[in-house]
Amino acid sequence: MPDKQKNIYTNNLKVAKYGNKAWQKAQDMGLIDLGVIRKRNKLITKDCHEFINMANFSYLGLDTHPKIVQGAAEQVLKSGSLDQPTARLRIHLSDIDDAEKALSELFEGFVLTASTCSALSEGVLPLIASGVFTDNQKPIMIFDRFCHFSMSITKPICADETDIITVPHNDLEQVEDICKKNKYVVYVADGAYSTGGSCPMPELLKLQEKYGLYLYIDDSHSISTLGKNGFGYARSHLNEINERTFFVNSMSKGFGCSGGMLLTGTPNYQDFIKRFGGPIAWSHPINSAGIGGILASVKIHFSEELVILQKALQKNLNFFDSLIKTNQLGSQIPIRIMELESKEDPSIIARKIFDKGFYVAPVSFPVVPKGKIGLRMMIRSNLTLDEIKQCCEIINGTVNHY
Ligand SMILES: *Cc1c(COP(=O)(O)O)cnc(C)c1O
Repeated sequence: MPDKQKNIYTNNLKVAKYGNKAWQKAQDMGLIDLGVIRKRNKLITKDCHEFINMANFSYLGLDTHPKIVQGAAEQVLKSGSLDQPTARLRIHLSDIDDAEKALSELFEGFVLTASTCSALSEGVLPLIASGVFTDNQKPIMIFDRFCHFSMSITKPICADETDIITVPHNDLEQVEDICKKNKYVVYVADGAYSTGGSCPMPELLKLQEKYGLYLYIDDSHSISTLGKNGFGYARSHLNEINERTFFVNSMSKGFGCSGGMLLTGTPNYQDFIKRFGGPIAWSHPINSAGIGGILASVKIHFSEELVILQKALQKNLNFFDSLIKTNQLGSQIPIRIMELESKEDPSIIARKIFDKGFYVAPVSFPVVPKGKIGLRMMIRSNLTLDEIKQCCEIINGTVNHY
């Protein structure tokens, strides 16, 4: 038998035991594993149920933008293959350099891409933990308790390199205490959380200024949706990115493509990451379709169209907020979670709403407090006011029934 030192940072047996009931219920209700086809702004299931997806992360509707789709298709034909089957470290299609140059200009920093954002965190966080970017001194790694799975899954690997501390959500007092006692400290968090809300960026930058705190911020949920050129929530707080800040983003959400990007204020980290960053070195890079999509999406981001889409998103968010009050009321980040007292299973409520034409995601602890359940909605620019009104009426009608 393994000794009791196991499961310090992860416990899949416990997660599966605890979480599987809810997934099974969602499966029984026909709410997960849905194979669909697209029909304009709607989706259709195999048994011909038509619905609007309120769990779609493509906040600006760029996932179906004709120029991005066309850019992806043309790039595949132009390069003559989907992938360059050699480790990126050795040989890669020069189109990747073009895409990274374009992304670097757009986000005003230095961009390194990878097949996914998860692959980036898996590659970069253990390297940061090793001390290779902090004068060869091991930093203390602080993880926000709510930080995304793609980062928290690296805790055991990072813990093999250095000390790991998990702090309560947004608890900067603890972060400051640790900064007072240690020269090299890295704080790992989301910019915008899929559980609602954001990291306190201004306060984190103050800690950075005072103590030299390093920041590793995953802002997948807000890039494109906010700020100049689609900088997103966290990046918008800095004019120039300093050398102690790492941003990572998934490009398969607001940006409308696929792949992940690391954004830093210096190119100096890149060689190490390309050589020693696990999946970044040894897995395939973004494929030709992804590169074509990125080049097209960057052009849209530089154009007036981005501003129009961002404004349409904020208008839809304001309209949603006027119909349903959530803890995220007034936030520019497009995630809304409606907390419910109901003792009913959230999957049963979500199924009733689904039957009336809208897919909302049922959520439970820890996304909402213990003893409560909730419904999570993602607002997009490409929803009409009528669709939002209809959705909110159905939600309110279904929920008030209990
Ligand atoms: C969706 C998401 C990811 C995963 O992105 P991939 O590119 O699919 O790996 C990572 N981090 C956060 C915060 C996300 O919301």
